[in-house]
Amino acid sequence: MSTSAHPTADAIRTGGTVTDRLVDANARYAADFTDPGMDARPVLRVAVVACMDARLDLHAALGLELGDCHTIRNAGGVVTDDVIRSLTISQRALGTRSVMLVHHTGCGLESLTEDFRHELEDEVGQRPAWAVEAFRDVDQDVRQSMQRVRTSPFLLHSDDVRGFVFDVTTGLLREIDPTTDAETDPA
Ligand SMILES: [Zn+2]
Repeated sequence: MSTSAHPTADAIRTGGTVTDRLVDANARYAADFTDPGMDARPVLRVAVVACMDARLDLHAALGLELGDCHTIRNAGGVVTDDVIRSLTISQRALGTRSVMLVHHTGCGLESLTEDFRHELEDEVGQRPAWAVEAFRDVDQDVRQSMQRVRTSPFLLHSDDVRGFVFDVTTGLLREIDPTTDAETDPA
């Protein structure tokens, strides 16, 4: 494509880094952008906590529009202290009430163990303050995440917390029963 009216963007596209490419895309995005005049408070009053996985297009997969929700993502969609921080701000300052957790099949964290952390310490001489939060059973990991949200003392609303596993091959969500034990789960 060399139809851009922006010569700098064209120059970046031919020899730049991936970030240059993204900045280039933004110039095109902004060219057609009109201020939607939205409030910062999510329209659907929901916060979605999901894995950072590149195959998970949350807005498309959940039918979300601009302004609908808060999106909080990290490796695994794990409910860490920092996710609780974001959820607390989301609920107390920006009016959300519901929490949706989305983990997925084929997550990178399934192939890691806490050894990752120890190897890291051996390599750099410093132990990370964070846990890897690796897991073997994605259903159980979703249950643990739901439990962490439900039991947080900082949140105003913990009655509507639901957890799902997104299948990266079918695009379908599967809801996780928060009360089912992993050993007795028929699935
Ligand atoms: Zn993942």
